[in-house]
Amino acid sequence: MNICSIRGAITIEENTKENIVTNTETLLKEILTQNNINKDDIINIIFSATKDVTKAYPAIATRNLGITDCAIMCLQEMYVEDSLSMCIRIMLTANVDLKKQDIKHIYLKEAKRLRPDISLKNSSFTVAIDGPAGSGKSTVSKIISKELSFIYVDTGAMFRTITLHCLKNNIDCNDKETVTKELENISISLNFENGIQQIYLNDENVTEKIRTQEIAKNASVIAQIPSVREKLLNMQREIASKNNVIMDGRDIGTNVLPNANVKIYLDADIDERAKRRCNELALKNEKYEYDTVRQGIIDRDNADKNRKIAPLKKADDAIVINTTSLSIYEVSEKIIKIIKENIK
Ligand code: C5P
Repeated sequence: MNICSIRGAITIEENTKENIVTNTETLLKEILTQNNINKDDIINIIFSATKDVTKAYPAIATRNLGITDCAIMCLQEMYVEDSLSMCIRIMLTANVDLKKQDIKHIYLKEAKRLRPDISLKNSSFTVAIDGPAGSGKSTVSKIISKELSFIYVDTGAMFRTITLHCLKNNIDCNDKETVTKELENISISLNFENGIQQIYLNDENVTEKIRTQEIAKNASVIAQIPSVREKLLNMQREIASKNNVIMDGRDIGTNVLPNANVKIYLDADIDERAKRRCNELALKNEKYEYDTVRQGIIDRDNADKNRKIAPLKKADDAIVINTTSLSIYEVSEKIIKIIKENIK
């Protein structure tokens, strides 16, 4: 036997004694059943309730279930702005026949949103983030994926990797036929380290190598070739079918994952986007000229928006966030809130 603490939470519909007690009973029963815990093996239970739960102590539920000889406390949960309301939380400590990693923490009803990593275990919840170059997609996607334990799939990196291969082998990115033939010599694989994508071109890690202005420019040419898009589309859908993903790109909400659980379209003024790109280049000690960077972004956006196949476009059901005057953390917070609201 090991001493373990188990967490759980549930929301109530109304601030009534009945609602508080019956929901707490449901949660307690679920914690005990799922973890095969005997009532006599419970050492203590701490309950907390948000400040809007006032009509009864959740601890009443323990007596109804015949749990009478363990230490119990009821506390008010710290109030955090915009946090989940009408919520009862439990931490139960008991002697259990399980290893710590096999413990099942239980989150029910709206409280599922508190722990997407647990509520969405073994599922494939998909978040599509589209938008033009420099709108903040990859930076916010990395933050969100870490916070929610999703994997972050950067589809632009896939187009860049094919571009890198073509440039290395002196293949003209406009030459559809040669590029298409060359695809059979290109093997792309992804590995996720701490949820962040590392991309391999024929077994070489090219994650950093693909971040050049020359590759960015040519990637939007390569991205117009149907065979290239088809190869990558299959990979992208395959990953999304097996994981909880934040996937960013240009056509994720419209084409790759038309049934994504959440669709976001990020945008920002061109000068703000150019400024961000210049800051990135400055950080890498790369030389740049503001007007050239700005024009490069405009050209890339035009190529992406006007191509025949899977152009950059807001999906009808996407939520638009203009990031011009928002910090990266404000944007991430907004998206995390939207994602949590969509966890059912
Ligand atoms: O996002 P990033 O700048 O890395 O993308 C490089 C290029 O890849 C884009 O300019 C676009 O032409 C192409 N792309 C695409 N569809 C995606 C992602 C990127 O066409 N889903």
